[in-house]
Amino acid sequence: MPTILWLRRDLRLADHPALLAAATQAATEGDGRVVPLFVFDDALWRPAGPTRRAWLLRSLARLDADIRARGGDGVLIRYGDPRQVLPAVAAAEGANAVHVSADFAPYGRQRDEAVEQALAADHIDWVPTGSPYAVGPGRVTKADASAYRVFTPFFRAWQAHGWRAPAPDPDPWPSLSWVSGPADAPPPEPDDVPDLPEVGETAAAQRWEEFRTDGLAEYREHRDRPDLRGTSGLSAHLRWGEIHPRTLLADLDDSRGAAVFRSELAWREFYADVLTRWPHSARADLDPRWADMPYDSGPDADTRFDAWTRGATGYPMVDAGMRQLREIGWVHNRVRMLVASFLVKDLHLPWQRGAAVFMRWLRDGDLASNAHGWQWTAGSGTDAAPYFRVFNPVTQGLRYDPNGDYVRAYVPELRHLSGAAVHEPWRWPDGYAHGYPDRIADHAAERTESLRRLATLS
Ligand code: FAD
Repeated sequence: MPTILWLRRDLRLADHPALLAAATQAATEGDGRVVPLFVFDDALWRPAGPTRRAWLLRSLARLDADIRARGGDGVLIRYGDPRQVLPAVAAAEGANAVHVSADFAPYGRQRDEAVEQALAADHIDWVPTGSPYAVGPGRVTKADASAYRVFTPFFRAWQAHGWRAPAPDPDPWPSLSWVSGPADAPPPEPDDVPDLPEVGETAAAQRWEEFRTDGLAEYREHRDRPDLRGTSGLSAHLRWGEIHPRTLLADLDDSRGAAVFRSELAWREFYADVLTRWPHSARADLDPRWADMPYDSGPDADTRFDAWTRGATGYPMVDAGMRQLREIGWVHNRVRMLVASFLVKDLHLPWQRGAAVFMRWLRDGDLASNAHGWQWTAGSGTDAAPYFRVFNPVTQGLRYDPNGDYVRAYVPELRHLSGAAVHEPWRWPDGYAHGYPDRIADHAAERTESLRRLATLS
């Protein structure tokens, strides 16, 4: 009897506890075969935008090739509702167990419970081993067993909790193959895909190696600068499980850069923990007081939202960020905070509208990090002191893009302005010579208005 490895957000072969568990069971109880299965589930495929679809398809193709290179059959692709597909594949293969890396997102948890029940009816084991996180969401708790809502104490407790070493390769290596007929063909790639880097496990490992060698030592100083390549660029690889955070943590020493990088990985774990404890916070405010926040709606609000989406607000840093999103499906963290603050606090629009645009275009689009990145900025989430944090789009630009290179890279209408002049085109006679739009809001006035609205919340 083989076992099934149902792949979801773990598209790799190295440091893979669920693969190890599946291979061990297949070697001891079965015929040594592990069936690597991926199911195209409409509930997840339909809402995914072109960026995530393309990344997933390319990553699956890489994994398929990597499995074939090791003498296997590749990834067995099937379509449909996993509650029906898993029992059907298990029956066709004669498998006695389905192994997974646990999923903690709200839909994934419900789906997995239902699949587990469907398999139990056929006496097939459901075996979750590991997760996309170094420490499984829900494991880090306060002394009274309650959850953390603030990052810094979570981070301390997370470090004290610790994590396992990377998983070894299965020995012997299993036969990653199937007997139940040809795999279905994957769907075609969408047309309007942003410019993506190389995907897959090998590319992830190479990126990590480059960053460890060239970026980590200066990460603390450079990580806030969108004009430099100062961050790892690993978020999409992590999102798809092409590399595991435990692999990264095992490579980190006690240097300052490594310490800051470890804390950034902890933000990802923190947000997954918060979403696991409060699943409603995927779409609704974590802090219920925000339900009364007076946001704008109607045709004028829609026009402003549209300008924000297109990168046509008249604020160069905001527009560069939104255009970066559409061009490469990734935005620097500092700029994500800035464009989010602008939407919520200058345009007075609900964070959910912006979060949906991000999820559509981001290559690393992740429900927990995205919803809580947005809520942190909006004030309704885990920020311990959210009230007066209104980002100034001009001073943020002058500080974090001091030579204007980031803006010029994404806003061609401003390329004729040199240095930091690019952040304030209104100050130069030729600032609008190439069609850059006027500002759609007066930041100083809207900041005051935002604070007035915040004060109405009790
Ligand atoms: P690095 O600086 O190299 O950080 C290393 C890793 O740590 C990242 O790959 C990521 O996994 C994690 N990390 C770093 N910062 C954060 C953070 N603030 N929150 C959570 N994890 C973090 N990240 C996503 O992965 N998916 C999202 O959908 C997402 N949406 C966001 C939305 C908003 C409004 C904001 C403010 C932030 C969002 N982030 C999201 C977090 C962060 O912007 C990205 O993880 C980071 O920019 C990715 O680039 P990097 O890999 O070079 O990061």
